[in-house]
Amino acid sequence: MYKVGITGGIGSGKTTVCKVFQVLGIPVFYADTEAKLIMVRDDLLIDGIKSAFGKDSYLSDGRLNNKHIAKIVFNNEDELAKLNALVHPAVFRAYTTWEQQVDSKVPYTLKEAALLFESGSYKLCDTSILVKSPLALKLDRVMNRDGISAQDVAARMDKQLSDDEKEKMADHLLLNDEAHAIIDQVMVLHQHFLKIAKTKIA
Ligand code: ATP
Repeated sequence: MYKVGITGGIGSGKTTVCKVFQVLGIPVFYADTEAKLIMVRDDLLIDGIKSAFGKDSYLSDGRLNNKHIAKIVFNNEDELAKLNALVHPAVFRAYTTWEQQVDSKVPYTLKEAALLFESGSYKLCDTSILVKSPLALKLDRVMNRDGISAQDVAARMDKQLSDDEKEKMADHLLLNDEAHAIIDQVMVLHQHFLKIAKTKIA
């Protein structure tokens, strides 16, 4: 199965773009959503988190103690790297299992990940798309969506590679700047991937 990775900065519109692909029948693996799920379901990962960050990492009802984890990793790059080193391989495992269960008639799949390049997970994909948006739009969208300040959005952005760095690594670009239609761009990419998928089957 041909595997497409899709990424973009916070608020770039990755999820919005993925929803258009889903309407076309393309299954999407949402890595960030999956990461949250497996942090309370994957026993190996849960044990790893507890031994790295203490038993207080989980509440008595099994939920992740977000406040405890955030306090440790937020301004500490080494601790954040430790958390990522536990979570990313677990997400890779979940992705591989998911891929194996996708209907073989599906021409290609999408993997949406904010840290596609940073985590190295693009290496599990055949090609990649970067969703790019102007900074002011990204700030506005996330402030409206999450009800947080521009400073908080900027702090999250600082933890990701810049668009320029991502653009060097991406194979395809999709501009979500509210001047270029998303659907037209998705259709061009969809036709391209269908063609490639056909040659892979032939
Ligand atoms: P994150 O990395 O934070 O998950 P994302 O890249 O997945 O963000 P979305 O959640 O798709 O971004 O979009 C952020 C917000 O901006 C959402 O509320 C979405 O509805 C809105 N949005 C995205 N693209 C557009 C657009 N072209 N026109 C209007 N609103 C948009």
